[in-house]
Amino acid sequence: MIENTLPEPDHVSELRRQLRRFVAEKAPREKRRAWDKAHDWPRELFRELSDMGLCGLTIAEEHGGLGQDIVAAVAAIEELARVGPFLAGPFIHCAFYGGMNISENGSPEQKASLLPRLARGELLFAYGLSEPDVGGDLSSVRTRGRVDGGELVINGAKRWCTGADWADYIYCLINTAPEASKREALTFVLIPGKAAGVSTTPIEHVNLRYTASCDVHFDDVRIPLDAIVGGPAKLNTAWGMLAGRALDVEKLEVAACTFGFAQAALDEAWTYAQQRVQFGKVIAGHQVIAHKLVTARTKLEACRHMLYHAARLANAGEPCGVETSMAKLFIADTGVEIALACQQVMGSYALSDAYDMDRNVRDLLGMPIVGGSSDMQRNNLAGLWKLNR
Ligand SMILES: Cc1cc2nc3c(=O)[nH]c(=O)nc-3n(C[C@H](O)[C@H](O)[C@H](O)COP(=O)(O)OP(=O)(O)OC[C@H]3O[C@@H](n4cnc5c(N)ncnc54)[C@H](O)[C@@H]3O)c2cc1C
Repeated sequence: MIENTLPEPDHVSELRRQLRRFVAEKAPREKRRAWDKAHDWPRELFRELSDMGLCGLTIAEEHGGLGQDIVAAVAAIEELARVGPFLAGPFIHCAFYGGMNISENGSPEQKASLLPRLARGELLFAYGLSEPDVGGDLSSVRTRGRVDGGELVINGAKRWCTGADWADYIYCLINTAPEASKREALTFVLIPGKAAGVSTTPIEHVNLRYTASCDVHFDDVRIPLDAIVGGPAKLNTAWGMLAGRALDVEKLEVAACTFGFAQAALDEAWTYAQQRVQFGKVIAGHQVIAHKLVTARTKLEACRHMLYHAARLANAGEPCGVETSMAKLFIADTGVEIALACQQVMGSYALSDAYDMDRNVRDLLGMPIVGGSSDMQRNNLAGLWKLNR
């Protein structure tokens, strides 16, 4: 198995060891295959991970967490993603969509009521950004929130809302001032997944099959103004939250998943190439195969450096918009290259469900699209570097 090569604090190395033992014992290939086929994830294993305190890694101790530790949380995603999205996904719904966002943007009341439960792994959030007509251009969301007395009345539709059918809350971006400029029109709200007027329809998709992403409809959904992220005074102020630290860390969370999948793909191809014999020798002994593997491992190592450099900056509270965008862009695009090289190494067996390669390739091909596409990261970077003045 490919090992971490970077210096890291002892507690992070120990966390890796624990998680490797955990997934090796509890998430064997036959279970991974069954979860992938069923679009499902193991609730009882997530409970065991929560009992280890894992979900507290993005939450301050005063709110029941372990103290925010972005490097450890990223390492946790990496280790869990080596066996697919089935545990990394739910961990992200709790610790990042929930714990990270509420820690950064929640009101004191939201922090007091939600963070202790998130730290214990008792709440799961879904992310409601994309819509049928809105992908990268998030500030154009059309889901509408109208203030009516002490409530918001919400109508509209979200698409690709992963986990909306089981999430306790949808962390949802809506337009609350259609007449205003985009910068003054957006609000993040917490919509209970089971609120009256919320309906979900699963979408069939080939990647990230730990659950079904969903179409969500809001028909006159009523929530109190207290459900505005940050409290009622934060009505129409979500523009700033779209560019804030929580979104920087969100890019890292997608990059960490990608890195875990790419590492798993390379691990599998690396082992396979030393066992499969053709023309009288193991295929790793054919120079073209050895070169593919060496190149892929070199690229993987570059991904590791970018990921943990950005994670260390985020952890230290330093500006990291550039580094997180570069990490998301580079790791997602390089993950595709690694996936395709490893697929070639394994030949027809990469296409069979006897191995994990087929799933890792499907998941890796999607990573330059989800969570802010590679083109959008290039746009972000061009803006941050003032290329497009
Ligand atoms: C399995 C899965 C799970 C998902 N989960 C969630 C979720 O939980 N919550 C959520 O909100 N969303 C989710 N998404 C949606 C995902 O984040 C979007 O697919 C992504 O943001 C891209 O949007 P789009 O696919 O609509 O592409 P579009 O925005 O329509 O873009 C299409 C193509 O055009 C390019 N493009 C668009 N605009 C520009 C531009 N200005 N400059 C250069 N190129 C441009 C894009 O890079 C892309 O290549 C999920 C998607 C999938 C497949």
